[in-house]
Amino acid sequence: MAYTRETQKLIYWLFASYANFRIGADPDAKLNEYDLYIAKKELKRLYIKASGYKADSKSLETYLTVLADNTDAETFKILSKAYIKSMQDFAINNDDFSLCLSLLSQEKANKFVDFLFDFMIEHNIPIRKEIAELYDETQKNKYIFSLLLHKKCCVCGKPITGPHHIDRVGTQGYKNDTGLDKRLSPLCPYHHAEIETGNYTNEEFKEKYPSFDYMLCDEKQIEILKDVYPHHFQAFEEGKNGI
Ligand SMILES: [Zn+2]
Ligand SMILES: [Zn+2]
Repeated sequence: MAYTRETQKLIYWLFASYANFRIGADPDAKLNEYDLYIAKKELKRLYIKASGYKADSKSLETYLTVLADNTDAETFKILSKAYIKSMQDFAINNDDFSLCLSLLSQEKANKFVDFLFDFMIEHNIPIRKEIAELYDETQKNKYIFSLLLHKKCCVCGKPITGPHHIDRVGTQGYKNDTGLDKRLSPLCPYHHAEIETGNYTNEEFKEKYPSFDYMLCDEKQIEILKDVYPHHFQAFEEGKNGI
């Protein structure tokens, strides 16, 4: 299954944001071909390195072996698959890979998008507003979790000391049984204090700050976040100072 045109568009938007960052321009500034090409090449190279993928250095021989060994009805299917792999491996051997719709699966495209977002958030690279919005709609949780992991406020990008628990209500304690306490929002101390005034519902806060959001974390994600915010979750479990 090939990946969607929307994902392809998203990847190219991210390339453009990074290209502008590299040359010190605004995320939405118009780019020349050269700067975009360099940014693309650099991000692909970093992704290949991070993924640990080792490309087949004899991809053409592999293809010829498949060709020689398969003469039955399945031949075409097998050959086309091997051909795609050899094309991608040829590119990867040259620190590149194709973003052509028919050569990349949605799963692999998603992994690349996750990598790009993580890279942008980790390195404080401003991303175009519409990318954040698009990502927010389609894969919001991945985006929010990445912000929680990198301790970045979803409103302003400043460092977080502890995430905001959406369902913590005053002195009643958190709703352990329902699991609703696992709804977390990445907020810096300033925006955390603002939402904790109780002057806003979540909807009103989102109206004031459109990038405000939260996610329901699963057990695995909570375990990961316990390492990121060790004191916070400890305090929270004891039912003390958990804000
Ligand atoms: Zn903030
Ligand atoms: Zn809070």
